[in-house]
Amino acid sequence: MTWGADNLPYGVFSRRGEAPRVGVRYGDRVLDLAAALHDEVFAAPTLNPFMARGRTAWHDTRTLIANKLTSDLAITEPHLVPLDQVRLHMPFEVADYVDFYCSLEHATNLGRMFRPGTEGLLPNWRHLPVGYHGRAGTVVPSGTPITRPHGQLGAGRFGPSAKLDLEAELGFVIGVPSELGTPAGAFEDHVFGVTLVNDWSARDIQAWEYVPLGPFLGKSFATSISPWITPLEALPRIPGRAQDPEPLDYLRRHGDWGLDVAVEVSLNGEVVSRPPYSGMYWTPDQMLAHMTANGAALRTGDLFASGTISGEQREERGSLIELTWNGTDPIKLSGGETRTFLEDGDTVTIRATAGGRTLGEVSGTIR
Ligand code: CA
Repeated sequence: MTWGADNLPYGVFSRRGEAPRVGVRYGDRVLDLAAALHDEVFAAPTLNPFMARGRTAWHDTRTLIANKLTSDLAITEPHLVPLDQVRLHMPFEVADYVDFYCSLEHATNLGRMFRPGTEGLLPNWRHLPVGYHGRAGTVVPSGTPITRPHGQLGAGRFGPSAKLDLEAELGFVIGVPSELGTPAGAFEDHVFGVTLVNDWSARDIQAWEYVPLGPFLGKSFATSISPWITPLEALPRIPGRAQDPEPLDYLRRHGDWGLDVAVEVSLNGEVVSRPPYSGMYWTPDQMLAHMTANGAALRTGDLFASGTISGEQREERGSLIELTWNGTDPIKLSGGETRTFLEDGDTVTIRATAGGRTLGEVSGTIR
């Protein structure tokens, strides 16, 4: 079974005429948790109250659900709702949103395009996971149409972006808040699970505005996430990629968080890229340690994303700007169509699998 008892991601669903509530995906159905577990925390229209309960509760609940779906299936059956009878909603309320830049290949490619004649990587890149604070209020669930953004495209020019792009990323959701810095070793105590992220990007707006303070309006118009949050426990872990130089102590890894996630990017139903998350340079425990190293607190619902996932090969690049080398080498689609950047009506779908489990998909259509 694709969404079996070893997967069990959480989401928020509603039946016609009923309020949204928390459920778990099992096969082609959603388990109504408030009804099945008699726990009011799942009657909330968001995962936040459950995520705030912490790691022991996450583990015990997951074990309980797996048991109900296997040994007690006859009793649980009435609480399984067919997917075609439900609507999926934002799975959690986003508190703060941070986006990193953790792929060596992506950072090198972008650097070479934005700063021609250089080697790409800036001097700080191998010393810290570069990131910026994004806009939490425009994180939207999969299926939400994406309106082409307008902005400054250069001196004296304002209009619709002509270089609208996608970015395939993995997002990490904070469950347990903290008041002070959160060391890399406490990753599992705070991070509830992962979601797929499409960090829509207007490259012409971005290229004009990003110096010296970083991304702003070229990114903040929309960020899409997948409806199912896969618990950390369900993900196969591998050692992180070797790092040179050795990171500072506070960024030292205490566990293997190089997640073996295979990503697939489709444009209008055609696969255009297969970025491998396993090759990312900075691991998510290092991202967490870095974004709190100054003493910044965490809130339940914080989302931090990996940055575009790109591999060494052209067909592993997780954005159109890299796949087409800033529009100079168009992608050829079947039927003779070509693409440099996204056109109105285009649909982008990002899917991912990890150790035989699916992480679902995040999809959006440009209008
Ligand atoms: Ca990004």
